[in-house]
Formats: sequence, C-alpha cells, structure tokens
Amino acid sequence: MLRKADNVTMTHQVRFWKKAAPARLSIGANTYQVGRLTSAEFSGIQHRQMQYPMSVTTIEGRKYWQFQNQYYWDDEGLSAVQVHALLTPRQTGRQRQHGTTPATADLSVTPPNAAVLTAVSDDAKQYIWARDDGRCRKCGATADLQLDHIIPLAKGGSRNADNLQVLCCSCNRAKTSGLPAGR
Ligand SMILES: [Zn+2]
Repeated sequence: MLRKADNVTMTHQVRFWKKAAPARLSIGANTYQVGRLTSAEFSGIQHRQMQYPMSVTTIEGRKYWQFQNQYYWDDEGLSAVQVHALLTPRQTGRQRQHGTTPATADLSVTPPNAAVLTAVSDDAKQYIWARDDGRCRKCGATADLQLDHIIPLAKGGSRNADNLQVLCCSCNRAKTSGLPAGR
C-alpha cells in the first residue's frame, strides 16, 4: 500500500560554521533525524525528488518517500521504480526522456547517533549516485562510472558518503596513478 503522508515535513539547516547538518523528518508530533548532509547534498536531493521518488527513511515498517514536494509512505517494500509508476500512472510504459538509472537516496538512520552509511550498501550507492547526479565528479562523464573512496580505506579513509564519489574509469585510473586523465 502506498499512501500520501500529509503530516510530514523535512527540515535541514546548516549553521554557517558547520559543513553538514542532520536532515530532520517530522511526522505529526515526532521528529526523526535522517542522514547528515551538506547544503549542496540536501539541495541535490530536493532537486532530484522533483524528477524521481527519493526514499528518505524507514520508520516502524513504513518507508517514507519524497516526490515532487509531497511525502508518501509504503509498507510493502516498494522500489523507487514501483513508487514512480504508482504516482505517475500516465507515464507508465513510456520511456523517460533521459532514461538513466533511477536513483534513490536512502538516508536510513533512525538512531540519532548512528554513523551514517557505515558500509557501502546498495542504498548508500544509490544515495551517492543521486548526490553526484549520476556523473563523474571530475569530468562529468556519464559512462564507465565507479564508486571511489576519496581517501582510500587503506589510508584510513572512511566508508561514509562524504568519502565516496562517483568517478569514471579514466579519472579513477588517473587518480590512482597520480597522473592527469588522458582522454
Ligand atoms: Zn571522469
């Protein structure tokens, strides 16, 4: 079942001396902290949800979705593709114009102090994919993309989203070899 959730709002306020802040989801009288995001990441998601349903978090078996500034929940474990099909029935079966991989951001963090994205789960990959707009962060390429640890795990880099980026093969190779990308 997919239902519209009318009593949901999301707020995100980064104080100027901080890089990132938690996004907060209010459902009725309850407030839940979802992932820590920079302003750029939050506005990226807000931009993205105008085109595609973004999963925000799962609370008590309900997965909350944001799509075109409305909130919805489902308790069937629907995928973003299914939610999109249910919410835009007229577009079903028709190929979207820029038919790229659907992206969702799952910022699933209910315990307030839990580290965000401790392992690179599929949800995290989708989140990073959405944040980087499905492009190589260095050159903007949209093919041969890989997920790169900005600081390698071997050098003490974390698995957090802020240490992960989308790179194309060529930029990733250039980064590893320390040479500029040859294209
Ligand atoms: Zn590149």
